[in-house]
Amino acid sequence: MNKILRSLRSLDRSTRLSQRLLPLLLLGIVLVPVSAQAHFEGSHSLGFFHGLAHPISGVDHLAAMVAVGLWATQLGRRAFWAVPLTFVAVMILGGLMGTTGFTIPFIEQGIAYSVLMLGALITAAICLPLSQSAGIVALFALYHGYAHGAEMPASASGLSYGLGFVVTTALLHLSGIGLGLVCQQVFQRHARLAQLFMGGLVTSVGVYLCVA
Ligand SMILES: [Zn+2]
Repeated sequence: MNKILRSLRSLDRSTRLSQRLLPLLLLGIVLVPVSAQAHFEGSHSLGFFHGLAHPISGVDHLAAMVAVGLWATQLGRRAFWAVPLTFVAVMILGGLMGTTGFTIPFIEQGIAYSVLMLGALITAAICLPLSQSAGIVALFALYHGYAHGAEMPASASGLSYGLGFVVTTALLHLSGIGLGLVCQQVFQRHARLAQLFMGGLVTSVGVYLCVA
């Protein structure tokens, strides 16, 4: 334990930020079992704080959004920021598409599949060119955004709900990035094992969502 604490202390500035984000992720992990049952896509209350709470109120969004951050740290370089930013941007687009009544089929299945696929990408440490990795998360983000846009009226409360949702999504991406960076620093040569563990965890959630 002391050894871990010492190596944590020796982290550079960029990873110190991620340490601060870690409690948020841990909070999310604690909240999941409590509230996984309470996540009904049809029963969204509107408002900024409900929007803030929603992505951590269900294991589907939580797992996908942390996974995007984890995968971004594996990809590195330009994808490090480009992949999470693509997710947030396309999710907003998906939300807007949802409010227009434009139809995307198999939304629930798409969201479950996104968790499964992200888990597989992390577990297998698959590195793709930026255009492809950004394209993949863009498709997933469309589903996560659309699901909520379709249920939201384009009113002030609907928009503030959306804003809250976007803020938490960005924080979950940062948590995933932080977790990935901390694992790289703490486990160093064994970072691959940590990736396997976390990728396996996300994949299991994806399997659960696909069969549930
Ligand atoms: Zn939802």
